[in-house]
Amino acid sequence: MQIYPWHESQWQQVSSRLQQLTLPHSLLLIGPQGLGKFAFAYELAQRLLCLTPKDNHACGHCRSCDLMQAETHPDYLLIEPEETGKAIKIDKIRRLIDFQQKTSQQGGAQVVLIHGAEAMNRASANALLKSLEEPQGTTYFLLVTSHPHSLPATVRSRCQMLRFSPQSQAIDWLLKEGVDAQRAEHCLRVCEGAPLSALALAQDAEGDLRGDILADMQGLVSQSLDPLSVAEKWKNWPQGALMAWLMSIINDMVTIQVSGKISRHSDHKAALQGLSSCLAPGHWFALNDQLIQQKRLTDSHIALNILLFWEDFLLSMSSAIERP
Ligand SMILES: [Zn+2]
Repeated sequence: MQIYPWHESQWQQVSSRLQQLTLPHSLLLIGPQGLGKFAFAYELAQRLLCLTPKDNHACGHCRSCDLMQAETHPDYLLIEPEETGKAIKIDKIRRLIDFQQKTSQQGGAQVVLIHGAEAMNRASANALLKSLEEPQGTTYFLLVTSHPHSLPATVRSRCQMLRFSPQSQAIDWLLKEGVDAQRAEHCLRVCEGAPLSALALAQDAEGDLRGDILADMQGLVSQSLDPLSVAEKWKNWPQGALMAWLMSIINDMVTIQVSGKISRHSDHKAALQGLSSCLAPGHWFALNDQLIQQKRLTDSHIALNILLFWEDFLLSMSSAIERP
């Protein structure tokens, strides 16, 4: 049973509504990526379908729980894009309509879980809207998204929002996962508090990705490396971590120029101080804008040529370097 410590208040909220028989039939689970919202939704689906729930959780051994574990539950429908970055097409939503018209086969509720709901195209969202407007029997819709504003307002307004946010328990959890305190705090800050992303970043950082980024930037300044070969290398690095580190490093570069202080990467003080003065603040801001723009495209599942982006980014950086 996968309830993370930072899910507890939402779980209690849902459980008490269930007990009072007032749980809305359409829930929209929102919050930054890396908080385990899908795990929560899946756990809730199990709980809703379980025939003999115990202490607000699925029992784990009734016929319904067995079917969930075997991934063959006839009253559970998972809808998600075929691949990350692709849209949820209308044929998937049509399956939903068929599913909804059948009566529950196990005699309990029916659950539709839409994972990455922002990936629905317009036709899909419109078709879903019909189902949300005319709920049948005991069907629950659980929509999960990290980008609620990419969903049509009409869909959002049919759902009760369940917000997930990073909590103070995140640090304790990361410590238990074996991340040391300083790194835990650091990675959480870079990942806007999302514990699962922070863990992934902390584990990446063990290979010292941040040190590698700084070394490549220094290589560009000293001209011992050329932008195109660095781009070729960066395209193979974990993109989420690379973007997060770069934005956070650039933030420090600007802070150093403005106040002389380093706020995030004080453990790489010498490298940062050396690099920060190589570009005028305006150029650092422009590079940061390029990253934000790229992240926005990645987040909206638009297929991208990563190599081309890094070539462009590193060439801009390289040409902005002020050499004496
Ligand atoms: Zn059960």
